[in-house]
Amino acid sequence: LLQPLDVHVTRLNQLQPDVLVGQPSLLIRLAKAQGETSLSIGPSKVISVAEVLSPEDERVISEAFGVRVDQVYQCTEGLLGQTCPHGTMHLNEDWLLVEQEWLDEKRFIPVVTDLRRSSQPVVRYRMNDILHAGTCTCGSRTMAISRIEGRMDDVMVLQGDVTVFPDFVRRAIAGAHPDIREYQVVQLSGTEISLFIPDPAHWDMASQALQALFNRLGAREIVVISAQSLYHHDGSKLRRILALRS
Ligand SMILES: [Zn+2]
Repeated sequence: LLQPLDVHVTRLNQLQPDVLVGQPSLLIRLAKAQGETSLSIGPSKVISVAEVLSPEDERVISEAFGVRVDQVYQCTEGLLGQTCPHGTMHLNEDWLLVEQEWLDEKRFIPVVTDLRRSSQPVVRYRMNDILHAGTCTCGSRTMAISRIEGRMDDVMVLQGDVTVFPDFVRRAIAGAHPDIREYQVVQLSGTEISLFIPDPAHWDMASQALQALFNRLGAREIVVISAQSLYHHDGSKLRRILALRS
């Protein structure tokens, strides 16, 4: 995953894979390469793993390869969910007991009990993820998830105890300008946010959108600082929105 993009592109052109699996941050770069025709593959399946797949990235990837982007929801505890034939994520309730700790009317934190393990049972393990309850018409009785929003770690709590869910930030940035693809928002403190966007004009628009969001939520005197590079918190995983806890 740390190989330069050119190496991936050359390999993929040779292999012509039927199934393309990768983190969204890599898939989005491959989608760009496919658009610029340096990459020319026709996978019948594209699967996003390991990072949060935003609706914006999903659309770009799906358009580039002409197929739906499926997701696999996994963690060190095992496979928690996957996309059904209708394109909806379902929790793996054949094997797991999943309880919901509701954050609001649609958001919840899954609390997982693994029914298979007898040696090292996982009992009521509280995941770090924010899921959105959804619906599906495929007939599966397992719980449908409309979205994996992000991690609880990525929820910002600003001065005045104002909670900012990752989706609020994502929507503000997406609404600032449709061409903003590469960005990162990091909460540095209760009043400081760093924003990385390579294009200065986009940066101005996005920082204004963030200020408007914070104002609307009642967070006052928040400073948005310009970051010069992306911050990789754990290994190679890219998190577009994160809160640093001191
Ligand atoms: Zn379904």
